[in-house]
Amino acid sequence: MRKNTHFFVFTLLASIFLGCSDDADSYKPNYLPTIDATTLPAENKPMTMFEDDESPSKMYDKTDRWFRVNEPLQVIQKGKDSVQISLYSPVGLTNVKIYAKLPNYDKKFVIYTFSKIPAFHRSFHKLPLTEKANDYLLETGSTVTIEKIEGFSSGAIQFSVESDDPLFQKFKKIKSNHLVQFHDGYHINELGKFLPMNPALAKEAITMIINYSYALSHPLYYSTFTNFDKYKQEQAAAAGTGINGALNWHGNADDVDGVYDYYSKEEIEKIYWNYLDKRTVWMAMVGGDSAWGGGNLASQWESGYVTGHWVGEMSVWSHEYSHHIGFSHSSNLANSGEGGGQQGMLTDFYKYLIHLNDLPFTDPDVLKTYAKTKYVTGTYKKPVFKIDPKNPFLVKYKGEGKWN
Ligand SMILES: [Zn+2]
Repeated sequence: MRKNTHFFVFTLLASIFLGCSDDADSYKPNYLPTIDATTLPAENKPMTMFEDDESPSKMYDKTDRWFRVNEPLQVIQKGKDSVQISLYSPVGLTNVKIYAKLPNYDKKFVIYTFSKIPAFHRSFHKLPLTEKANDYLLETGSTVTIEKIEGFSSGAIQFSVESDDPLFQKFKKIKSNHLVQFHDGYHINELGKFLPMNPALAKEAITMIINYSYALSHPLYYSTFTNFDKYKQEQAAAAGTGINGALNWHGNADDVDGVYDYYSKEEIEKIYWNYLDKRTVWMAMVGGDSAWGGGNLASQWESGYVTGHWVGEMSVWSHEYSHHIGFSHSSNLANSGEGGGQQGMLTDFYKYLIHLNDLPFTDPDVLKTYAKTKYVTGTYKKPVFKIDPKNPFLVKYKGEGKWN
């Protein structure tokens, strides 16, 4: 049985809703229509972000283009009565419900339902609350009628997103909330060492960072990272040798005669979460003799963005991202030397996820950047992934371990 609740809001900042509730077997809620974002009228200002021929100045505008890796579908209030929705994903979503939570009402309700949101879509939508009284579906399945509210101060409404789309279900598992932006200062100040990117490359970078953030969040990765000593032992056993180099994760102090500054179990746990925290990463592209990372910066070559990540070549990215987290070449969290560190382990793990089809995006044809000769300088073929039968994750888990 559904109940309908009717709320009257007298002022913008009213802290109490006065209302009446009636048995509503007879009440037929009149919800707002479902929106198909592929066919929006001009008043919604629909657009596709990162169109190949869009001016790169747009992607480098950090106030306009940014997202958190765990929220590729971003909902931001604009002014007192509108929202902007932006999807930072190379694949669209279906069946999306956007919930709103008002400061003075404790239940979440559906404010927009989208049948479709295409890849890299952006549009603007009037808050229906500011237009007239409407019925809204509550999270609980009941109905609430909310009277017209004149407007909202910025940040007053909390938005959240739900969808049964399998892609969205993968987004939901991402535990990292790193903020992604593109920064043009590197190539402006040191052209050659760094190169300008374009929207075609930015789309690949976004695709890669979502996949990478999913991989870091994966339970198999967490268990391997937090038991790296065991991983090292297994590698040594498989090779029939003693453990090569460090036994476990260690810090930035230089090794003195095999004496490493090993981290404690607690420190390793904390470091894992540093990789997934809310810091900002500025993605950039290198052109010189080496890639760079540190502070906000993490960069790699065009080939890494265009084809490398699709076949799991994540070694450079893992290395630069570790500089961004704070590790130098003397630590095996950044360096692959000293018997293998995170670079190699992450790369093998990432390839195993591609093999399992357990990443948000595994089909390079969603972007086909390898064929966009106008937007890349290298010569590329369609990347084709093949798992090495000796991949340590394949050897150990034998096709098991998919994140369900
Ligand atoms: Zn380095």
